[in-house]
This record gives sequence, C-alpha cells and structure tokens, in this order.
Amino acid sequence: MRILVTGGAGFIGSHLIDRLIPQGHEVICLDNFYTGTKRNIFKWMGHPNFELIRHDITEPIRLEVDQIYHLACPASPVHYQYNPVKTVKTNVMGTLNMLGLAKRVKARFLLASTSEVYGDPEVHPQTEDYRGNVNPIGLRSCYDEGKRIAETLAFDYYRQNKVEIRVARIFNTYGPRMLENDGRVVSNLVVQALRGIPLTVYGEGTQTRSFCYVSDLVEGLMRLMNCEFTGPINLGNPDEYTILELAQAVQKLVNTDAEIKFEPLPSDDPRRRRPDITRAKTWLNWEPTIPLQEGLKLTVEDFRDRIKSDT
Ligand code: NAD
Ligand code: UDP
Ligand code: UDP
Repeated sequence: MRILVTGGAGFIGSHLIDRLIPQGHEVICLDNFYTGTKRNIFKWMGHPNFELIRHDITEPIRLEVDQIYHLACPASPVHYQYNPVKTVKTNVMGTLNMLGLAKRVKARFLLASTSEVYGDPEVHPQTEDYRGNVNPIGLRSCYDEGKRIAETLAFDYYRQNKVEIRVARIFNTYGPRMLENDGRVVSNLVVQALRGIPLTVYGEGTQTRSFCYVSDLVEGLMRLMNCEFTGPINLGNPDEYTILELAQAVQKLVNTDAEIKFEPLPSDDPRRRRPDITRAKTWLNWEPTIPLQEGLKLTVEDFRDRIKSDT
C-alpha cells in the first residue's frame, strides 16, 4: 500500500514509519519540521519506498495514497502554546485538507486525537463515551478544542462523504526520540536527571498521568487502521502514576542524589488521567506490554547517547 504519514518526522510518526517500511509499504512522510526533525527519519532517506515532502498541512496538497495516518500537530504544551492560533489552524484547516484528500482518493484516514478531549475529567478512568470537561478559552484550548473539532470533522466526512475514518484518542506517550527541549514531563525529568540539575515537578506532584511506551502505541495505531471499527478508541497504558512517583522513578534509575524542585502548576492542568481500554482490548485485541520501569530505561539510554554527543 501507499501510506501517507503526516507529522512523520515527529516522535510517534517516525516510530510508525519504522514499522511500515519493513512491512513493504510505500511511505510518504509529510512534515513542516515544526517539532519534527530529519534526524528521526534519516535512516530512510534514499530508500526506494520512502519519500519526504516538506509541506505545511494548512495548505492543500494533492497526492495519491491508500491510507493516511494524520499525526501532524505539535503535541507538547510548550510547543502548541507557542503559537496557539497556528495550532488551531493545523487542527482545523490541516485536518480539513487531509480529509478532503482522503475523500478525493478514497483513502482510509486515521486521526491521532488525544486524551485531552476529556479535559480535566470528572469521570475516572476515562471511557470513550465520556464527553469531557474542557475549558474553551484557556491556554490549552487551542489543542484540546482543536482536536475536538478535528474529531467532529472526521465524523462528518464519514457521515456525509463516506470517508473511512479511524479515531484514536492517544494518552501520554513517551520513548526514544522525544526532543530534549520537548517540555513534556518524561523528557524534562530524564534530561534534568542526566544533566545533574533539579527535577522540576509542577504543583505538589499529586496530579496523575498514565504513560504508554511508544512501541505499544504504534502497534495500537496500526491495529486500529486495519480493523473495521471507526472508534473513537482510547490508546494508552492504564497504569497510573502521580508525577511525584514518576520523578522518583527517574531519580532511582538515573541519579538517586537528584534534587526535586517544586514549581507552580500551569493553568488548567488536568488533575488525573487514566484510559479505560476495554474497547481497545475488545476491538483490537490490544493492550500495552511495556511497563514504565522498562520503557523508562530504554528512554534514558536514548537520551544518554544524545546528551553525551551534545557535550
Ligand atoms: P511531535 O511534535 O513529535 O510530532 C508532530 C509532528 O507534526 C512534527 O514532526 C511536526 O513538525 C509536524 N507538524 C506540526 N504542525 C504541522 C503542520 N502544520 N504541517 C505539517 N507538519 C506539522 O508529536 P508526537 O508526540 O509525535 O505526536 C504526534 C500526534 O499524536 C499529534 O497529533 C499529537 O497531538 C498526538 N498525540 C500525542 C501524544 C503524546 O503523548 N505523544 C498524546 C496524545 C496525542
Ligand atoms: N484538498 C486537498 N487535497 C486534495 C483534495 C482536497 O488538500 O486532494 C483540500 C481542499 O483544498 C479543501 C479541503 O481539502 O480545502 C476540503 O476538500 P473538500 O473537497 O472536502 O471540500 P471543498 O474543496 O469543496 O471545500
Ligand atoms: N510536569 C511536571 N514537570 C515538568 C513537566 C510537566 O511536573 O517538567 C507535569 C505537568 O504539569 C502535568 C504532567 O506533568 O501535570 C504531564 O505534563 P505533560 O506536559 O507531559 O503532558 P500533559 O499535561 O499534556 O498530559
């Protein structure tokens, strides 16, 4: 098959491409390199089944493909809040363009949505039929509401134009290739521990998240794309940790003397988050296999190599 991966030079997209090409697919990676890098896809440059297009999805593009994994969108709060209007454009105009493309060429379209559609959830763990508690005018809204309208567009193209859609609601995912300055909690803590500077915990660290290792997530995305269920479907690891527990796990793994420094909690920071993955188990026969300790170890090794080569 010929498969388009938007945001393919990013963290999750590049790991997905690493799975698709060895399966014999032709892959077109489309990216504007806002948070993605050529380093992530460097090994495929020159491969006969790989093509890289520098393009911003807020502009239309005509391509011929069989499947579209639509991942293009900055995912870290630091990056998506840097230019929030652009984040909205990427989610709204960008998703519209990719759905228009899917409609024209009759490609199957998978949207990388997010657990952020649940906002600061009042239901715990979160099931797909929970409609969320999102602030429409806060600092996170460009991303949260952007992804909510992206889901709406996907379902309207499905109902109105019979586009074959798949909607994944991805929960916090981590692993090798996250940017050192990504700003998300796992990369921040690991980089800080390796550099011997204090680990920043926002608030009291009692807020929770559930962390999924990237290879598990990519497996879930591929199963969803190739199954007969539109979704939305939660993809994430149901093991829930407080942020303080995560910081302590990183301390234990990298540097037991590392100090923990408490900093103010950002506004609208969700207090807890954990996926109910009953649907993914039922429809995709999928559940995560890599526990946090093991995934953190692999992540630390990757950052250690990069930080060493920086100095
Ligand atoms: P990432 O920032 O590493 O990757 C996003 C990629 O999209 C980057 O390569 C970036 O350059 C590209 N991009 C951004 N705007 C673009 C535009 N207008 N045109 C073309 N390319 C553009 O992030 P990631 O963690 O790999 O996330 C991938 C997708 O998964 C995103 O849609 C994100 O919202 C979703 N997601 C990720 C997580 C997570 O924890 N990593 C959780 C929920 C949802
Ligand atoms: N589009 C695109 N590539 C295509 C087909 C469509 O980028 O191959 C864009 C198109 O320019 C439009 C959007 O997708 O902005 C929605 O297209 P659709 O055909 O659904 O709507 P219309 O063009 O009628 O607005
Ligand atoms: N966080 C933290 N220290 C950091 C970065 C983030 O304590 O250096 C917290 C943040 O306030 C949030 C959680 O960790 O409660 C997860 O943040 P991240 O930005 O990784 O993802 P999201 O909030 O989008 O789930």
